[in-house]
Amino acid sequence: MIQITNSLTREKEELVPLEAGKIRMYVCGPTVYNFIHIGNARPLVFFDVVARYLKFSGFQVTRIMNYTDVDDKIIQKAKEEGVSSDVITQKYILEFETDMKLLKVEAPDVQPKVTDHIPEIISIIEKLLKNGLAYVADNGEVFFSVRSFPGYGKLSGKRLDDLLVGARVAPDEKKRDPLDFSLWKPRKETSEPSWESPWGPGRPGWHIECSAMSVKYLGDTFDIHGGGMDLIHPHHENEIAQSEGASKKVFAKYWMHNNMLTVQSEKMSKSLGNIWLVREFINRFTAEVLKFFLLSGHYRSTLDFSERQVKEHQAAIHRIYTTLEKVSQLETLEIKGSSNPTIEEQNLSKAGTDFSQQWRAAMDDDFNTAKLFGLIFDYIRAVNAYIDKKGFKPSPHTHALMQRFTSELSQVSQVLNLFGENPTAFLKELRLLFLKERGLTEKEILDQIEQRIEARKSKNFQLADDIRSTLSAQGIELRDKVTGTDWDVSFTLGS
Ligand SMILES: [Zn+2]
Repeated sequence: MIQITNSLTREKEELVPLEAGKIRMYVCGPTVYNFIHIGNARPLVFFDVVARYLKFSGFQVTRIMNYTDVDDKIIQKAKEEGVSSDVITQKYILEFETDMKLLKVEAPDVQPKVTDHIPEIISIIEKLLKNGLAYVADNGEVFFSVRSFPGYGKLSGKRLDDLLVGARVAPDEKKRDPLDFSLWKPRKETSEPSWESPWGPGRPGWHIECSAMSVKYLGDTFDIHGGGMDLIHPHHENEIAQSEGASKKVFAKYWMHNNMLTVQSEKMSKSLGNIWLVREFINRFTAEVLKFFLLSGHYRSTLDFSERQVKEHQAAIHRIYTTLEKVSQLETLEIKGSSNPTIEEQNLSKAGTDFSQQWRAAMDDDFNTAKLFGLIFDYIRAVNAYIDKKGFKPSPHTHALMQRFTSELSQVSQVLNLFGENPTAFLKELRLLFLKERGLTEKEILDQIEQRIEARKSKNFQLADDIRSTLSAQGIELRDKVTGTDWDVSFTLGS
């Protein structure tokens, strides 16, 4: 049984699909005029995991995410760059798709654009006019009349009087009530993108697009509507008013909202100059580290970003892949013969059983990825305790225990689209990125190792020790083996 915290009822509820075995979901997508930052990536990664987990649990999922490709910010950017809005939106849709691929986020089933749905938008506005929920001002602007819709405020829990406090009517605005919002905006300049309508040339207001596109692809009523908490009011509140006002049916059954990503407790925003673009982050630290970080907190909690967080998540990912690499090497060993499992082997077997029961329970409980990660580390600790034990020798049970571990993790990997890289290749990538961050090269490390070998040969142990500690101070750890000296990076804090 999957439980979801429904923002509409403010309660955790059992997910009961409208149609057995099927889930229809809509998530508000990006306004395409800029590169996305890691705060924008949080809902993309999270709702992808929701859809994947629902599929993993046997549901057939239809997921829609829109592109807002007509908007004041787009028009502004087009003006600044002296190009048409289309040039801006086409460019940033492609850039967005590139980022989705880098993030290993599956494309939704449909990614409809506002500009391809003007007739649908006009038709829903006509319905609202007919139902007495909208009116046309004398300049051709169409407004939604908030006070005419009785359920307004049910999602945000805000009363109309509270909302009125912050609402204002600009001197040139034609709305009858400060609470009303625009459904259709008349064209101001001929250079703006605009379409013919019964109210003259113009373009849709922001909120109406999601009402028009969700009904087209998912029907009047669908299962899950998602988005960031910052969209609850006014955007989602307005979507409900428009959709339910037009269809007179319930809009979305469950509302899910992810909390914000902050940078040292402040919002990530251009004006504060604390933006990390998805692309920038991935180039420096890999998509695995980013996704792991974004999913490391429960989606309803804020997630605070800092250098320290990056280091902690690098260290954690490094640990997971190091274990996966060691395990994959042991997995190929099949030792014949028989013996009773040791205490350690019994413990590890139990850790596997616990993990397989508990990770799904964590995901069933409102997609608790934070808890899931805790379980993964418990399991990893048990695996490491077994294989890193002094004097460890593979036994006839080792093979099955290692296989169990990789198969459990690969199930999780199906849901998160994480931890699925080839461990050896990925660890190499992590090491090289680590060196690059510190302005080091692999050759320099290998030269140092060579010098240390020479120093030891000539019994200059002081020099050999100095080389080791200099490298260690740079986060490079040496491991002497019979076959030679290996090196690895250490993502400990402070290095
Ligand atoms: Zn929306």
